[in-house]
Amino acid sequence: MMLLCDFHIHTKYSDGSVELRRTIDLFGQAGFDVIAITDHVVNSDNSIGKLAHRFRLSIRENNFDEYISSIRQEAERAIDKYGMLVIPGVEISKNYLSSYKSAHILLIDIKEFIPACWSYEMIFLEAKEQDALIVACHPHHTTDIARDTLFLWNNRDKYAKYIDAWEIANRDDVFNVISLKKYPYIANSDFHKTRHLYSWKTLLNCEKNIESVKNCIRHNKGVAITLFRN
Ligand code: ZN
Ligand code: ZN
Repeated sequence: MMLLCDFHIHTKYSDGSVELRRTIDLFGQAGFDVIAITDHVVNSDNSIGKLAHRFRLSIRENNFDEYISSIRQEAERAIDKYGMLVIPGVEISKNYLSSYKSAHILLIDIKEFIPACWSYEMIFLEAKEQDALIVACHPHHTTDIARDTLFLWNNRDKYAKYIDAWEIANRDDVFNVISLKKYPYIANSDFHKTRHLYSWKTLLNCEKNIESVKNCIRHNKGVAITLFRN
């Protein structure tokens, strides 16, 4: 049996509109097997980032531990109540005026805070040190040009070796370039609002624990995508 998974979910800890607990219940009641909570960690080295920090749309070093421990607490409730595995993560969000400079990276099963203003190499090496899964988010042109983050795709020759998987689909967008390059892939909702529950998802043929899930994605064997609809 394939596990129904969503590895890209925001809550009120950053710019999501649904509280963490309510988010867990939504996905649990919808029958999900594995989810990752991945609130934004935004770079604060420019004015866009500074605004995100001022309006608390970013996880910060000083609330990271509280964020992770709330997820772990909810994870216990989720496994008891729904049999659903919940994994703590973040979305490192390097936001710049130019989409060619911008990149978003999921770090799934992160343990220690990693600042978004670090260099790509430092972020990737530290994430590997923590044995977090590294996923390049919405890596190509999307239906919302304002959200485009093209840096990693355009610099894939340099960075692909660090990346465990690429989002081949994000909410309603599908990035066929990922399949043409034969990169490892997953598909996620980029959940910010209740209606985003209905979107592209990942199916995994593996056991329901963090290590098996990370291995399955890294080896990209037994991975499928599905459009989850009401
Ligand atoms: Zn993003
Ligand atoms: Zn996101």
